[in-house]
Amino acid sequence: MKAKVDPDTCIGCQLCTQTCPQVFKMEEDKAVVYVNIVPVGAEACCKQATDECPVTAITIA
Ligand code: SF4
Repeated sequence: MKAKVDPDTCIGCQLCTQTCPQVFKMEEDKAVVYVNIVPVGAEACCKQATDECPVTAITIA
């Protein structure tokens, strides 16, 4: 599974970095995905972060 944050949409609320720090981190005022492949153990929190992003900036595939 891969995840991506659209930097034009992200409002930097930090929710995803709190929900799933294994995948997301803040870089300046935007969240970024810092892993190439989402670790198996982090797939659930990554999906949760995707569902909970207030501006739907995260996509997973
Ligand atoms: S939850 Fe969405 S808006 Fe908030 S920091 Fe993460 S990607 Fe950006």
